[in-house]
Amino acid sequence: MEFIPHLLLVEDETKVATFIKKGLERQGFTVEIAEDGREGKRFFDERTYDLIILDVNLPYMDGVQLAHYIRTKNTQVPILMLTALDTTADKLAGFDAGVDDYLVKPFDFMELIARLKALLKRTIKAPESVNILRVADLELDLDQKLARRNGQTIELTAKEFALLEYLMRNRGRVVSKVDIAEKVWDINFDTGTNFIEVYINYLRKKIDKDTSNKLIHTVVGMGYTLKEK
Ligand code: CA
Repeated sequence: MEFIPHLLLVEDETKVATFIKKGLERQGFTVEIAEDGREGKRFFDERTYDLIILDVNLPYMDGVQLAHYIRTKNTQVPILMLTALDTTADKLAGFDAGVDDYLVKPFDFMELIARLKALLKRTIKAPESVNILRVADLELDLDQKLARRNGQTIELTAKEFALLEYLMRNRGRVVSKVDIAEKVWDINFDTGTNFIEVYINYLRKKIDKDTSNKLIHTVVGMGYTLKEK
């Protein structure tokens, strides 16, 4: 593999988690372990992974709930579920929608590797799915030059796209109008004009109009920030 796949493994049994992590690292993966569903959710929110392995039975939030959560935010990342032999049929049905593949424990390690490689190949074959910035259910597709909110495609002009890309790359940080003028328009900010406010309003109408989960926030006297509340 040309790239080093970055995996999240959510598994509460330390011995199993360590065993899988060590084995995968020998195969050239990097692996982060989350020890329960809540931690897995936090890692997923904060970081970007090429693939996620979920144990089905987890404290606080089980693998099925976590898979559903992940799918509301990211429709692309492959998810492989590890299930116990006694996993009930309704649970299996429950994760059909969001999970790409599953393996029943105990499994053969080479089988796991084969499944993971197959899932990763699929992702790599679709390069348009790799070059995407995400904040909550907002996606910015850098190859197709368009945005999606909650799965709905949003057409952007070139400047709106550049402004949104700048805000998303600086997610959680307050950016001033001076920053925006320099980085997006490549000009020195003239306080006598309000074109940045105008463009922020265009973006708001396109991105935040139909949702209560507003992502673009004004920080009075400072500038703007893009983040979840
Ligand atoms: Ca478990």
